[in-house]
Amino acid sequence: MKSVKADLHLHTNYSDGKLTPAQLIDLSKKYGISVISITDHDNVNALEEAIEYGNQNGIQVIPGVEISADLDEQEVHILGYFIDYKDKRLLEFLTASRNLRINRNEKIVRKLNEMGSTINFNDIKVKAGEMTSIGRPHIAMELNEEGFVKSYYDAFIKYIGDGKPAFVKKPNPKSSEVIKIISEMGGLSFIAHPGRLIRDELLISLIQEGLDGIEIIHPSHSKSDIEYFSKMAAEHFLLTSGGSDYHGGVKNDGRNFGNYCISMDEIINMKRRLFI
Ligand code: AMP
Ligand code: FE
Ligand code: FE
Ligand code: ZN
Repeated sequence: MKSVKADLHLHTNYSDGKLTPAQLIDLSKKYGISVISITDHDNVNALEEAIEYGNQNGIQVIPGVEISADLDEQEVHILGYFIDYKDKRLLEFLTASRNLRINRNEKIVRKLNEMGSTINFNDIKVKAGEMTSIGRPHIAMELNEEGFVKSYYDAFIKYIGDGKPAFVKKPNPKSSEVIKIISEMGGLSFIAHPGRLIRDELLISLIQEGLDGIEIIHPSHSKSDIEYFSKMAAEHFLLTSGGSDYHGGVKNDGRNFGNYCISMDEIINMKRRLFI
């Protein structure tokens, strides 16, 4: 029997991805991926359309989201799966996060304008659309188009990467709050790409806050990261997940698509934990 391939970490143009939900599903089909989750940053607006289009095309779409959270002053990304994405409280929570992003993006653009760039946040908003979660990647693309930087990545290296001259910290909800709301929405919370986490104590704190699982398979993880986090998951009775974190476009991550998958076993374990 052909084994099922699942990619549970994908972005669309409702956050900083290039493809529409339908284009992403067409691509998944082409690569033989039959279960996906769309995990836009602080946004679930792609999900209804994605689930419907997935149903028509034989691709199962698990409702997902990637929420930015703060733990001890450090930003962590928490993935939520099987969430009730139509719940009013969740939608209000995510709208509040996106509004904080807007305020912060305006501050970043102001700093860039002081440094000689002529980009305008309104242009970025119009291009991205009302329903999209806007972040630094959108600003990097605009700087690149303007010719103020040599490339998308150059924008982060010179100006808007963490700690760089035009960087402004985004205020995020606390990780405990994010884990709690995902659970209240009937979902499961996973720490995204923990290989980028600096301190081990952070992972332990998240587990104490009620984290359900760890994203093990991710392009940023080395073989030893995968072994280490698999061991941590087993020791703490946590679920495991994974995906390509594919964004497409200028991020140049096309080679990752189709190469960071998990099997049906992980998804069955998730459903067992939720009794679904
Ligand atoms: P934001 O949520 O607005 O703070 O944007 C964070 C996103 O920007 C991350 O998910 C990455 O995609 C991207 N990013 C952050 N730092 C860098 C960097 N140094 N180089 C490239 N991309 C980055
Ligand atoms: Fe992203
Ligand atoms: Fe992330
Ligand atoms: Zn992501």
